[in-house]
Amino acid sequence: MTLPILPKPGDACHGFRITAVTPLPALRGAAVQAIHERTGAKAFHLAADDAENLFSISFPTPPPDDTGLPHIMEHSVLAGSERFPVREPFFEMLKMSMSTFLNAMTGPDCTYYPVASNVRQDLFNLADVYVDAVFHPLLAEKTFQREGHHLAPAKPEEPAGALTVNGIVFNEMKGAYSDPETRLYFTWLHGLLPDTIYARNSAGDPAAIPNLTYTTFKSFFARYYHPSNALFFFYGDIPTADYLAFVNERLAGYDRGFTVPAIVSQAPWSAPRSCEDVYPIGPDDPATGKTYLMLHWLLGSALNGA
Ligand SMILES: [Zn+2]
Repeated sequence: MTLPILPKPGDACHGFRITAVTPLPALRGAAVQAIHERTGAKAFHLAADDAENLFSISFPTPPPDDTGLPHIMEHSVLAGSERFPVREPFFEMLKMSMSTFLNAMTGPDCTYYPVASNVRQDLFNLADVYVDAVFHPLLAEKTFQREGHHLAPAKPEEPAGALTVNGIVFNEMKGAYSDPETRLYFTWLHGLLPDTIYARNSAGDPAAIPNLTYTTFKSFFARYYHPSNALFFFYGDIPTADYLAFVNERLAGYDRGFTVPAIVSQAPWSAPRSCEDVYPIGPDDPATGKTYLMLHWLLGSALNGA
């Protein structure tokens, strides 16, 4: 096993300070943690003897409500940026790169932008597009309307007829909500963790998505998509210093901004609770055998040392 050259704790490295280096024999690698001194951006390199490298940027994006703001943001930042002003850089990258993984995901509390490749230059090319997408997206109002919601004729052949809500995320979530098990997932999150951000739907409830305004959308971006709130994750055999130099160059011009405070956990309950929800079925479908039941136990925290 040959690990890439590792820095030492306390080292200064391309605008970053190395805060910890932890050998991870079980993973045949080491974890390098670093913080960008000017902006506070965090970096974590899982250094391993593996030519398949991964570069990922994530931001904690606590949803303010059920409008799916973090999800619509994820779609929209990948719809053109200052240096790559094409409509769908994401799909261009898919077609033209040697990536082994390329995606973007909205979680309940965080949004991730990972790319992976076996070819070093390919990886940095892809990372360049992603970094520009998350820090300098165009975020035009038209993009927000297309990805989020807008009104369109209910029947395309009757352009002056009745209007209905349309939008890529809106339609995606209408599809998701038509699956009873997806509904069940959101219902239990809401019922189980009512006092936390997990009670809100970061992907978007179709009933709430049309309430999202472009102004709220833009201010969410300014607050959360800032280096001070960013976590860079790298995996593989490219030296930590090379990754940090790449990131540092792209954080030029940024100072310290907003950092999301730690997420508050749900306070334990004094007694068990139950909650119920309903879902639609076809007009001719029998209602028998269509009930879902779910039971949860509190097992403890998954956090390190908690
Ligand atoms: Zn989506």
